[in-house]
Amino acid sequence: MAVVTPDSCRETYDVIVVGSGAAGGQTAYTLTMAGATVLMLEAGRNYNPVAETPMFQTNGTAPIRGGATPDKPLGFFDSTVGGGWVVPGEPYTSASKNEAEQFTWWRARMLGGRTNHRGRISLRNGPYDFKPYSRTGLGFDWPIGYEDVAPYYDKVEMLIGVYGSNHGLENTPDSTPGVLLPPPKARAGERLVQKRAKALGLPVIPIHRAVLSVRQDADSIPAKLHPGNPRAQRILAEAMRQRAACFWATECGRGCSIKANYQSPTVHLPPALATGNLDILTDAMVREVLVDGQGKAKGVIYFNRHTGEERKISARVVVLAAGSCESVRILLNSKSARFPQGLANSSGLIGQCIMDTVGAALTGQVPLLENLLPHNEDGAGGDHVYVPWWLYREQHAGELDFPHGYHIEFTTGRHMPGLATAGNLGWLTGGSYGQSFKEDARRYYGSFLSFAGRGEMIPNKDCFCELDPEVKDKWGIPVLRFHWKWSEHELRQVAHQQKTFAALIGAVGGKVNVPPAADPLKAIRPGGNVKHEVGGAHMGADPRTSVTNAFGQTWDVKNLFLTDGATFCSNADKNPTLTIMALAWRASDYLLEEMRKGNL
Ligand SMILES: Cc1cc2nc3c(=O)[nH]c(=O)nc-3n(C[C@H](O)[C@H](O)[C@H](O)COP(=O)(O)OP(=O)(O)OC[C@H]3O[C@@H](n4cnc5c(N)ncnc54)[C@H](O)[C@@H]3O)c2cc1C
Ligand code: SF4
Repeated sequence: MAVVTPDSCRETYDVIVVGSGAAGGQTAYTLTMAGATVLMLEAGRNYNPVAETPMFQTNGTAPIRGGATPDKPLGFFDSTVGGGWVVPGEPYTSASKNEAEQFTWWRARMLGGRTNHRGRISLRNGPYDFKPYSRTGLGFDWPIGYEDVAPYYDKVEMLIGVYGSNHGLENTPDSTPGVLLPPPKARAGERLVQKRAKALGLPVIPIHRAVLSVRQDADSIPAKLHPGNPRAQRILAEAMRQRAACFWATECGRGCSIKANYQSPTVHLPPALATGNLDILTDAMVREVLVDGQGKAKGVIYFNRHTGEERKISARVVVLAAGSCESVRILLNSKSARFPQGLANSSGLIGQCIMDTVGAALTGQVPLLENLLPHNEDGAGGDHVYVPWWLYREQHAGELDFPHGYHIEFTTGRHMPGLATAGNLGWLTGGSYGQSFKEDARRYYGSFLSFAGRGEMIPNKDCFCELDPEVKDKWGIPVLRFHWKWSEHELRQVAHQQKTFAALIGAVGGKVNVPPAADPLKAIRPGGNVKHEVGGAHMGADPRTSVTNAFGQTWDVKNLFLTDGATFCSNADKNPTLTIMALAWRASDYLLEEMRKGNL
């Protein structure tokens, strides 16, 4: 394991990768398996999910029964050990004081970044999702289509392990047969929705999640992923054998010590380290990318997040994979006489058109699910089924008042009791107390259904980030200032989401505590709150109207690449991380080929 110190780093590397999350992990994996030497710089601390995951602790053993606190907003046992909504000493600002125009930013400063917590929902973008402008005249088309990314979706799904099934639905791509792992069975509440949603015309099908429902086929997958590279095949086979199948009992958000779910530090980094080609430097915050006299990237300046000590390190190629807005910040802070507006910014587009997912939710209580016999519904630590967007035809025919759709994720079941389990029952119990409250708590436990919409946001000129002219972080580096405004498209979509959720709750015989908000602005989650922020340096076919080419290579600096979500031209309803990884693998293949040809 080569977790190095500044003094034990090599003199120079083929590639510097900034960030160790989904993008950095995938990039480092692909490059090192092919023989390139890589230094990964990660701002957060070293983190080992195998040793550190609190898998089996019950909430009752934690302060306030594991409930959320300002420093652990996702609960005491959540895997995010560094960061969250607030990172001490590293603020960001909002240009507007208007609450509806605030952007919220979740940053995980730790090895593996946000992959340690993420819900592992792994949906492919479909063919329409790469061509939104051609289809609706809104947003931007990508310079690539589904067919360019499909082989990489297959590869990533085989590498990380994704459960799910194929249904041949419109714009909801099937994986190549044999790629997906079997999906878990639906839970009781999920089956109830599945049955009743049919009458409303909604399909409820297995979701795709990066969790091993069975062990991976370590005998055949490595040869498919690394043909002609027996060493990489051996290393990957060994790494796959170290991963166990899910035992359906714990919360994936805590991380997984048996490596059954996908986290960069358990899936991408171990084989990359085993090649001997990867060095990882943690607590190393990159401040800027350095350029030489010819305008090529020559390395980066980074500093130790604890001591502030600053160093330089060089490489043939620099890859930014720090999370889309963080990569934008590094580029904007990389100013020089040659690049006074920041690096790779001749188009002036760095920071423009950032997007999140459109999110809103509604919860209902379902009498049919009351007083169920005690049974284990923990399952795969997250969703088993979901509703893909189902109104493509109606929308295309102009029957809806908003463009681009949403899918529905939902939570049911009897999860490990926590602080909130028997809270807020007054509207059902009429304020029972003592023994009768205990009986009520048992009666209602597991009888709630929460629906959450995840919809496409159309990029708009009011949503962007830039360097704050005044505020700096504790090391004196300018921070990001966000501008945010939802458009009518998103607000109308949320109004539709709310109606659909209310109809679904009605269809299962449930009732809502709080009726759907009449004003969609009250129901929509703030910008950034779904934590799917992408864009800010989008790819394209023309250097005047985009920041990178179709491989994340910046037009202005040919040995500088972006492999995180910054290059996204649109943000489909599908959760972004599988696409980030597929594009990172594709960009890395291209980068390797360009290095081989001597172009970099
Ligand atoms: C609670 C939660 C649930 C989610 N659920 C899902 C889901 O179900 N499905 C899905 O697709 N997505 C989900 N996401 C989003 C997903 O986590 C991100 O899309 C994904 O992690 C992005 O990968 P990334 O590598 O670009 O960024 P990150 O995973 O954020 O990694 C970036 C890394 O770069 C480091 N870094 C930042 N700045 C610097 C710097 N200057 N120098 C050095 N290092 C730096 C950070 O510390 C971090 O480790 C979820 C996110 C959260 C927080
Ligand atoms: S539910 Fe399964 S994948 Fe998730 S943390 Fe538990 S064992 Fe790991």
